[in-house]
Amino acid sequence: MATTTKSEKGTPPHLALFPCAGMGHLMPFLRLAAMLASRGCSVTFITVQPTVSAAESDHLSSFFSTHPHIKRLEFPLPPYKKSKFLNNDPFFIQAEAIGNAVHLLRPVLSCLSPSLSAIVADFSVASSVSQLASDLSISTYILITTSARFLSLMVYFPLLAQYKNTKNNAGGGNGYIELPGIGPMPVSSIPPAMLDDNNFFAVSISTNVSSIFKVKSILINTFNWIESEAIEALNSSGVAPHPAPILPVGPLESFDIEQASDLPWLDEQAPESVVFVSFGSRTALSKDQIKELTTGLEKSGCTFLWVLKASKVDKDDTEKVEDIVGESFLGRAKKKGIVIKGWVNQEQILAHPAIGGFVSHCGWNSVIEAARLGVPILAWPQHGDQRINAEVVEKVGFGLWVREWGWTGEKLVDGNDIADRITELMLSENLRARAKEVKEKARHARETNGSSERLLQGLIDSFKSKE
Ligand code: UDP
Ligand code: UDP
Repeated sequence: MATTTKSEKGTPPHLALFPCAGMGHLMPFLRLAAMLASRGCSVTFITVQPTVSAAESDHLSSFFSTHPHIKRLEFPLPPYKKSKFLNNDPFFIQAEAIGNAVHLLRPVLSCLSPSLSAIVADFSVASSVSQLASDLSISTYILITTSARFLSLMVYFPLLAQYKNTKNNAGGGNGYIELPGIGPMPVSSIPPAMLDDNNFFAVSISTNVSSIFKVKSILINTFNWIESEAIEALNSSGVAPHPAPILPVGPLESFDIEQASDLPWLDEQAPESVVFVSFGSRTALSKDQIKELTTGLEKSGCTFLWVLKASKVDKDDTEKVEDIVGESFLGRAKKKGIVIKGWVNQEQILAHPAIGGFVSHCGWNSVIEAARLGVPILAWPQHGDQRINAEVVEKVGFGLWVREWGWTGEKLVDGNDIADRITELMLSENLRARAKEVKEKARHARETNGSSERLLQGLIDSFKSKE
């Protein structure tokens, strides 16, 4: 494999960034792009057209208008026939389509001027991108958008073979898998889709995991203090197979946090009195579960800001709020809370002094944003990596997690139970204090001599020193 890193003397290193589908991937890539550009790198950002969600295309438009120095490389996706491994998830379909089309970028990447020093690829397209980059003698780096704990599980993907067909703790073993350097991980935290050879989730990990061992290094949106165990295990030479060096460079900074606050309702609330409820950019609870959540919020007596999603892709989310949660709930809730349908600036909300807790699905971006902004979490993981991410929240101690609530659709979580947990979250001085400590540690990681900042700067210096 060719690993030359090119950068002509005196010219800034030129990096191409290549995210996969969905806001959970796009956000950290945009943040990294802005951070690299503000630290003296020239950045080309590859954007697949069309995007799955309106949120993606809206963010791309506003990002490039506010960051005109970052070059946009548009990549029109050719028509695509999905494989037998896919269900109807448009984000997974897009991920597979991108992976299959990467080779088409060859002519454009090979004649970029100045030539590329490196490509930073999403894990979900790492295999095809690293193959192309190697053919073009460009170094590949991966940006991992999940936790180091979930990365450990992906690294040991082949170990999972023995747990195939084991659902939750029910069948076989003692219900735990031993991960080198990490210790026992409950099988019930492993997404069932990862144990199913015919599911795209498993196929995608098995396709891309080999790149983890081949690329130059792996950037990850976490920081040493919050995930030291998993990071040390991944970086320890005693652990085999040995992945490329893991560089925890998070929490990645927001690029639009300075925007003026547009939250007049929140401005009127008492400090730390509001619970923020959001399940990320692509998770809709069932109608029955939404109803239980209305009961839970009402019975908790807490003031709330709820971002409601009723379908996976925002363009399909056309139902009115009142038709989903009911006029009577909205009427009663008037003094107690607000329900928003549509995109909100989550970081701006989490940063608001009125927010005292976060009911979250534990997408990794949400976890790391809550960590950075010192907001305790009530973890309610639904899919994918989210249970493993919830384990991080629980271990670090800045949140609660009721494991019995299960994966999405596994059971209907009762409104009274939700109310009790929300109350527990909002009243816990311990969680609040711990969240503030986590925020301090995150801030240290980003300071000039902090663990994450030093790694990022070291990486940029290594691009600059090579010719
Ligand atoms: N997000 C946001 N506003 C919304 C929904 C999501 O700003 O209304 C952001 C959130 O702050 C995070 C990303 O979108 O940066 C979602 O990523 P995450 O990993 O939390 O979850 P996913 O959406 O991938 O399930
Ligand atoms: N899913 C998701 N985020 C993830 C992983 C999965 O939103 O990180 C969604 C995915 O869209 C899929 C659903 O969860 O439609 C169920 O996924 P899974 O593959 O686990 O189960 P299955 O397809 O067998 O129902």
